Amino acid sequence: MASKKISSPKSRMLKPRTLAAQAMGHIDPATKAVVMPLHVATTYLRDSDNQYRSGFSYGRADNATVRQAEEVIATLEGARAALLFGSGMSAATALVMAHKPCHIVASQVMYWAFRSWLVNEAPRFGHTISIVDTSNIAAVKRAVVPGKTKLVFIETPGNPLWTITDIAAVAKIAHAAGARLAVDSTVATPVFTQPLKFGADIVMHSASKYLNGHSDVIAGALACAKPDALWKRIETLRSQHGLLLGPFEAWLLMRGMRTLDARVHAETRSAMWLAAQLVKNPNVAGVLYPGLRTHPDHAIAKRQMSGFGAMLSILVKRDERAAIRTAANVKLWKRATSLGGVESLIEHRASVEGPSSPCPPNLLRLSVGLEDPQDLYDDLAQALAKAVRRK
Ligand SMILES: *Cc1c(COP(=O)(O)O)cnc(C)c1O
Repeated sequence: MASKKISSPKSRMLKPRTLAAQAMGHIDPATKAVVMPLHVATTYLRDSDNQYRSGFSYGRADNATVRQAEEVIATLEGARAALLFGSGMSAATALVMAHKPCHIVASQVMYWAFRSWLVNEAPRFGHTISIVDTSNIAAVKRAVVPGKTKLVFIETPGNPLWTITDIAAVAKIAHAAGARLAVDSTVATPVFTQPLKFGADIVMHSASKYLNGHSDVIAGALACAKPDALWKRIETLRSQHGLLLGPFEAWLLMRGMRTLDARVHAETRSAMWLAAQLVKNPNVAGVLYPGLRTHPDHAIAKRQMSGFGAMLSILVKRDERAAIRTAANVKLWKRATSLGGVESLIEHRASVEGPSSPCPPNLLRLSVGLEDPQDLYDDLAQALAKAVRRK
């Protein structure tokens, strides 16, 4: 069942931020409520002539609340359509499974669980996978095989080194070879980058992160430049495999997206300030943040991002044990995985990712939330001082 557009063509002229703040401005026709009701029904009444004119028949395929959240995501990304899934992993794996057996090129620096699925599981569906440093355009050119490569999947900024991939340059290479480009834009958010504008075909989000923003929903999204045959197949697979996001999660996600723009701007201001402070901290050996002029991909980041996001990593002086001790010593930062919530998180990534990871052992990943940045810095500085001083 195709996703229907609920908004009028006129509302499309408004800025994405305006439309997201009002969840597309929908008013419940029955009550005039300014927040749309949550649709929980699994099944829908047929018309007496056996038709389903409402466009809904069964809850595994489609849901009105999910559609509303999809409409907000499509608007934010400047996409023709969006589909919501039960998780970011579900969205990314559905995209791959919708392809006939082919060659796929993917970023070396990316969300480790998806890279691991590509390497270990995707071959069982007949795919061959090349993992390359996609921030190196020459390496992408070498890896893409015209006629064989059907999908290039990049993550930018890439977890947890915040490597930047030039979306426009990779889109050109992919298209010249007859492949599509998909971009995991979870960390950039549509506020700072709209990958479709740079030539990407599909944008993917772990909506569990910034889009929802409150660490209380697991969800994933795909948005497309063109609802073509592949897109239809993804939609069919979502229904067949039962991958649709639950309505309550979609409703919460829509509530989260109303404040997306305000949240990520405030969090990014804090991240920028923290990065500048941490560079000067005597217990920090390095700061990885695309907003710093010293970041190797700063120039590309500046070209394709209107802000540098709220994720950064630090390399702790001395060794891995000092990094783990730093995470143990924080009081305000929460020692937890994930990112993009209103509360700041700190994580020792090498412990999570294992030996195949490009993550340095002394790296701590920081997800900057909405707390006062001075409070965040003071807490981290005391944790670093205690951890690095101790032998
Ligand atoms: C969390 C995350 C994912 C996976 O999303 P889930 O919602 O946890 O399945 C994919 N990509 C990035 C960049 C992420 O941060």
